[in-house]
Amino acid sequence: MNIFDLKGKRALITGSAQGIGFLLANGLAEYGAEIIVNDINHEKALIAVNKLKEKGFTAYAVPFDVTNKKEIEKNIAKIEEQIGGIDILINNAGIQRRYPLLEFPEQDWDSVININQKAVFLMIQEVGKYMVQRRAGKIINICSMQSELGRDTITPYAASKGAVKMITRGACVELARYNIQVNGIAPGYFKTEMTKALVENQQFTQWLCQRTPANRWGDPEELIGSAVFLSSKASDFVNGHLLFVDGGMLAAV
Ligand code: NAP
Repeated sequence: MNIFDLKGKRALITGSAQGIGFLLANGLAEYGAEIIVNDINHEKALIAVNKLKEKGFTAYAVPFDVTNKKEIEKNIAKIEEQIGGIDILINNAGIQRRYPLLEFPEQDWDSVININQKAVFLMIQEVGKYMVQRRAGKIINICSMQSELGRDTITPYAASKGAVKMITRGACVELARYNIQVNGIAPGYFKTEMTKALVENQQFTQWLCQRTPANRWGDPEELIGSAVFLSSKASDFVNGHLLFVDGGMLAAV
């Protein structure tokens, strides 16, 4: 038996039309999972699904705004009735906004908290109801180094990712008794659209390489192993855990 096998499992990944979410969609599909691509942008979600289908994977596009409770309720019911039960939920959608603390616009604080934090809570509430009925489920929340560490100009992001760490633990405490595992993946610094400006900033890249024991940026494909592990039978007694995939950054002063 392959304990990492995801055949017969269905995974909903939020914000998966691009970046880390899209890579995780490909990774889970390689291990046999059917993929439901969610994103706020309908066209981008359809393009992502077509790319997955071209590789022979089974994929569906269910675009909606993960901050909108009514849309969540409607679309999760639609998936459960028309596509099938959600076995794996990956809360990946997230945004970054950068301003010095004292100048941070209130509306940007609201956007970051709504998408990165509140949406995770709302998605777990809704998908969790169905998982509880089935007495089975895997929930993975994409956290961050900023779940633990502060950094210049991104205090709301750090606040939201710190909260996602505690949503992960709280949800574990309440849902583990129903055979639902709720864990987090905390990526270090990875080359994606979100970090494009930082990757292109030579000074930042130099600092990052010195600060990270592995001495380099992460390649988003390096997150796939953790996502497969936390989605599969291999992690059935792993719960409330944050798995840092950071080249050793958190271990170093
Ligand atoms: P990304 O490339 O910007 O992808 C995020 C996706 O989420 C985008 O397609 C975005 O759509 C979508 N999205 C935004 N708001 C949404 C909403 N309300 N409903 C549904 N979808 C929405 O970001 P990424 O770098 O792959 O990051 C993915 C996750 O990893 C985030 O939670 C991020 O915080 C976390 N993370 C990333 C890094 C890194 O180094 N990149 C490190 C640590 C943690 P639009 O583009 O159309 O808005």
